[in-house]
Amino acid sequence: MARVCQSREFMLIMENKRMRELVDLLNKYAHEYYVLDNPTVSDKEYDALYDELVMLEGETGVVLHDSPTRRVGGEPIAAFKKHTHIERLYSLDKATSTEQLSAYFQRVAKVTPKFPRCTVEYKFDGLTVCLTYNEGKFIRATTRGNGTVGEDVTAQVLTIKSFPLTIDYKGLVEVKGEAVIRLSVLEKYNETAAEPLKNARNAVAGAIRNLNPKETQKRNPEILFYDINYIESGIINSQEDSIAFLKNNGFKVFDFLRVCNSEQEVINSIEEINAGRKKLDVLTDGVVIKVSDFALRDQLGATEKFPRWAIAYKFEAEETTTILQDVVWQVGRTGKLTPLAILQPVELCGVTVRKATLNNPGDIQRKGVKINSRVLVRRSNEVIPEILGTTEYFLDSVEVKNPTVCPECSSELVEVGANIFCLNKECRRRVILNLSNFAQKDCMNIDGFSEMTAEALYDNLSVRAPSDLYKITREQLLELEGFQDKKADNLLASIEKSKKVSLESFIFALGIEGVGKKTAKDLAKKFKSINNLASAPREQIIQTDEIGDIIADNVVNYFADQYNVSEVNKLIELGVVPTYDNVLLGDVFSGKKVVLTGTLQKYKRSEAQKIIESLGGEVSGSVSKLTSMVLAGEEAGSKLDKARALGVEIITEEQFDQMIGDLKKG
Ligand code: NAD
Repeated sequence: MARVCQSREFMLIMENKRMRELVDLLNKYAHEYYVLDNPTVSDKEYDALYDELVMLEGETGVVLHDSPTRRVGGEPIAAFKKHTHIERLYSLDKATSTEQLSAYFQRVAKVTPKFPRCTVEYKFDGLTVCLTYNEGKFIRATTRGNGTVGEDVTAQVLTIKSFPLTIDYKGLVEVKGEAVIRLSVLEKYNETAAEPLKNARNAVAGAIRNLNPKETQKRNPEILFYDINYIESGIINSQEDSIAFLKNNGFKVFDFLRVCNSEQEVINSIEEINAGRKKLDVLTDGVVIKVSDFALRDQLGATEKFPRWAIAYKFEAEETTTILQDVVWQVGRTGKLTPLAILQPVELCGVTVRKATLNNPGDIQRKGVKINSRVLVRRSNEVIPEILGTTEYFLDSVEVKNPTVCPECSSELVEVGANIFCLNKECRRRVILNLSNFAQKDCMNIDGFSEMTAEALYDNLSVRAPSDLYKITREQLLELEGFQDKKADNLLASIEKSKKVSLESFIFALGIEGVGKKTAKDLAKKFKSINNLASAPREQIIQTDEIGDIIADNVVNYFADQYNVSEVNKLIELGVVPTYDNVLLGDVFSGKKVVLTGTLQKYKRSEAQKIIESLGGEVSGSVSKLTSMVLAGEEAGSKLDKARALGVEIITEEQFDQMIGDLKKG
C-alpha cells in the first residue's frame, strides 16, 4: 500500500515538473509569437505542447499561476500606449476533429438542450484589431494584447484605406476584425524587401505592431471585420445582426456566413470552407463556429480565456520545423541553378516531407539558411514545400556554399544578379528539359514524346537542339532500345505534324525565360510573325499588354543571342511554319476582358475561351477592376465573390449562349 502511495506521489512530482517545463517553454514561445512577432517553432509544435499541458492540468487539477491556459495572447509592449478595452477580448477554444466538435456541442447542450442556431465563418489568420467609434467617428484602434489591456495602434491602422472613418451609427461601439496581408501582396513585398517576411500572419502582426506607421503602410494590410465587441444600445441580438450592422456601416466583411441548425450542417459548412480556402488570397487557419443568439451567449458565458458560445475548428497546420540536412543544386532549362533543400523527414498534412525549394542563392542568404539549422517549412498548394526561414542555429550549422561548376556538365558557372547559371547550351540536363518543353502539348504538341525520349535521343542520336528532331530518320529510331516499327513511325508522324504550328505555340516552345502560354499568346497577337518579334525593339515589346521590363528584357536577350537566332532559322528551314491566324467571327466580346470561373456544363473552358477570342474578347485568369465580365459556372468561388465586390458584370452559361448566338457548340 505504502508503495502504491509512493509511486503516486512520484508520478505527481514528475507531472508537476513536466508542467513547469511546459509552462516555461510555452511562455517563451508565446512571447516570441505575440510580442516579438517572430516565432521560433511552428503553430503545430506549439499546439502539441499546449495540448499536453491542458491534459496534465486536467489530470492533476493543478494550474500554475503563469500557465498560458489562463492567459489570452501576450502582454502589450511598453513602447505603445496602453488601452483598457471596454469589453474583454477573448481567444477561442479549439477543436481539431469532428469528435472534439461533438464534445463541444455536448457541453453547449447542457445549457441549451435544443441545438442552437450557429453561424459558421472563415477564420482568418492575422492579428486581432479592435476599432472604437463614438458619435459616428473613428476614435481608436487597439490590439487584443492580454485581452484586458491592448496596444494603441491608431496611427498604424490609419494607414489602411479600406475601413470607414465615419459611420452612420452614432453611439459608442467597438468592432472587431482580423488585420491580414493578402498572400499576393506579401509575395510582391518580398520581391524587393531587404528582409523577406516568413509568413502572412507574422508579417501583418509586425506591420500593425510597428512603431513606424510608414512600415505598416508599406506592407499594405487590410482588415476583415467579423464581430461587434461592444455596443451601447441593444439593437444587435445575433451574429447575423452583427454582420448586417458591420456591412451597413461600411466595414469590409468577408462574404461568407452559413447559418446552421444542426451539427451536420456545421460539419458541411466546415467542409465547404476547407474546400474553398485554398483558392483564397488570404491565410486561413480554420473556421469559427458561433452560437448566434446573444441571449443564449449570455447564458453560456465565458472562461478566463474564451467564450463558451464559440469555438474555432482548426485545420491541420501546414507549417512545421525540421533540420535542413543538405542543399543540392539542380539545373533548369534556361541554365539557371536552383537549390533544393534536403530535410530531415517530417510529417506535414499527412505526408512525409523530405525536400523543399529554395529559390536561388539570394534566397538562401535572405532566409539565413545553413546546413544543420532548424528551418520553418510550409506546404501550400505546390507539390514541393517551401522554406520560409531559419528558426534555430546549432554549433555545427554551416554556411551553404554556392557551386562553382555545373553539377551536370562540369562547366564553369556564372553569377547573374541573385542567380547562378550554367551557360553550356549542350549541357545534358538543359537540353533534355528544353526538348521536353518544346514537345509538350501547348508548344509543338509532339505526341508520344516524353522526358525519356529526350534522354534516349540525347544519349544515342546526339540530339542537342529542337531542330535536330526534324533530321531524325526512321533507321536511327529503330536502333534505339524500345523503338519498334510502330513507335518509330508514330513519333516521326507526330514530329512531321508539329511543323504546322500556331505562332503562339511556337513562341512558347522556344522556352524564353518567363514567357509562358499567356505571354506567348500576347506576343503573337501583337507581332503576328516570328520575324517581327525577333526584330522588335524593347520599347515595342514593352507596349504589349501585361508585359513588363523583365519579360521584355528576356525576349530581347533571347533574340540577341546568335545561337538562338540560328536555331529558329534552322527550324524554319527544316519546314516548321509558325502561323498567326486569328480569324474573328464577330465582335460581341470586342475589347472585353472576360474571366471564367466555376464548372461550365456545356463547354470545356478551352472551348469557351476560343469562342470568346474569336468574338474579339480576351480571357484572363483573375478578376480585377479591369475585368469587363465574369462567366460563372456552377460552384464558382472566390473569383465570383470578388466580381460581386467590384461590381463586375456576371453572366451565366445561358446568358453566354444567348450572346454567342450561332456560334453555339454543336
Ligand atoms: P487563435 O488565433 O487560434 O483564435 C482566436 C482568434 O481568431 C481571435 O482573436 C480572432 O482574431 C481570430 N479570428 C479570425 N477570424 C475570426 C472570426 N471570423 N471570428 C472570430 N475570431 C476570428 O487564438 P490566439 O489565442 O490568437 O492564438 C493561439 C494560437 O496561436 C495557438 O493555437 C498557436 O497555434 C498560435 N501560437 C503559436 C506560437 C508559436 O510559437 N508558433 C506561440 C503562441 C501561439
